[in-house]
Amino acid sequence: MRLQLNELRAEPGRSFPLEGTEELLDVQWEEENLRLEGPVAVQGSAFFQDGRVFLTLTVAGTVHRRCGRCLGDVVERFRRKDFLEVPLEEPKAQYIELAPYVESGVRLAVAVRPLCREECLGICAQCGADLNTEPHRPGCRAGEKEVDPRLQKLRDLL
Ligand SMILES: [Zn+2]
Ligand SMILES: [Zn+2]
Repeated sequence: MRLQLNELRAEPGRSFPLEGTEELLDVQWEEENLRLEGPVAVQGSAFFQDGRVFLTLTVAGTVHRRCGRCLGDVVERFRRKDFLEVPLEEPKAQYIELAPYVESGVRLAVAVRPLCREECLGICAQCGADLNTEPHRPGCRAGEKEVDPRLQKLRDLL
């Protein structure tokens, strides 16, 4: 999306609505590749003042991710509103390209660690079992951690 500046510049301080969509390629975030489903919906407003553009930008859309515990599929809907101050590098610029702002909005909008569900048990770091669907594999010691230490003491004595 491009935000044309002529109108804004002609009336400093007046807020103009903006609305549209931004077709982003996959967004890299940390080590993760956020797979966007369809374009990102963008809406908000903008005004011009003292050589800067002030933007209120709401981004909304859907991303496909992997659960932070079990690596299962997660479909995450996001929505985020930001207030941005954009200095014009080129004072006479005709427009500003909104894609980079939409993209950083998406990064900030998504959960730090997506989960397929709140109670997801995840994958055992030791035996690799998906604890949502199977018990620890034979010989895995991670499952024994829950044993009451007093009981363990007793067991060692026997
Ligand atoms: Zn999960
Ligand atoms: Zn295990």
